[in-house]
Amino acid sequence: MKNIGLIGGMSWNSSMEYYRLINGLVSQRLGNLHSAKLILFSLDFEEIKAAQDEGRLTDVAASLTEAGRALQRAGADFLVICTNTMHKFASEVESGTGLSLLHIVDVVGKAIRDQGISRVGLLGTRFTMEDNFYRGRLKENFNIEVLTPEAKDRASLQHIIYDELCQGRVEASSRCSCAEIVGRLARRGAQGIILGCTELPLLIQSSDVAIPLFDTTRLHAEAAVNLALSEG
Ligand code: GLU
Repeated sequence: MKNIGLIGGMSWNSSMEYYRLINGLVSQRLGNLHSAKLILFSLDFEEIKAAQDEGRLTDVAASLTEAGRALQRAGADFLVICTNTMHKFASEVESGTGLSLLHIVDVVGKAIRDQGISRVGLLGTRFTMEDNFYRGRLKENFNIEVLTPEAKDRASLQHIIYDELCQGRVEASSRCSCAEIVGRLARRGAQGIILGCTELPLLIQSSDVAIPLFDTTRLHAEAAVNLALSEG
């Protein structure tokens, strides 16, 4: 079994989900007392978020890369960044560590393509919905068209993610708002929805909406286990 290197803490609530899902899947696949071989480098999210908000993006990239290097020294065979947003810095982390990175967009793109879907709605942080690193990669690598919520809905998701979910608060009113945002995207033609923030599955599940949801936390954790248990 390969050693999984997790760059987490963004937030720690979703990193716990990665830990739970990865170990649960390894246990299911191998049985007995088997569990995952993994190393977690958990960053202080307040520092990362402040740097991001102030536009100090090279500092963010440097912190992630430093964490990746520490994981490499500790014996990680590949890296998993436990957040969608921070994949904005995926290439810096990969080149700065020399380790391969299991890119969350490639994992979710493959899952969407496997379901024969070509137009999806994307929910996530402002950075994930508005920058091109996520939508562009889905278009270029998988020819998937991405719809994002209207500005008011994007602002509301940003608030729900950072002021509630990342701080461990799951509010019923936010679940309703989120389901309404999904409904509006479906009416604009989305055939499925990417939960493109690793905390969103804590808030909303398939039973809350009428179209398929792509849970990036679960898909990413499953792909990490597949890679860890693969030969070669
Ligand atoms: N965990 C979130 C994500 O998947 C947001 C936190 C962040 O990395 O800014 O995008």
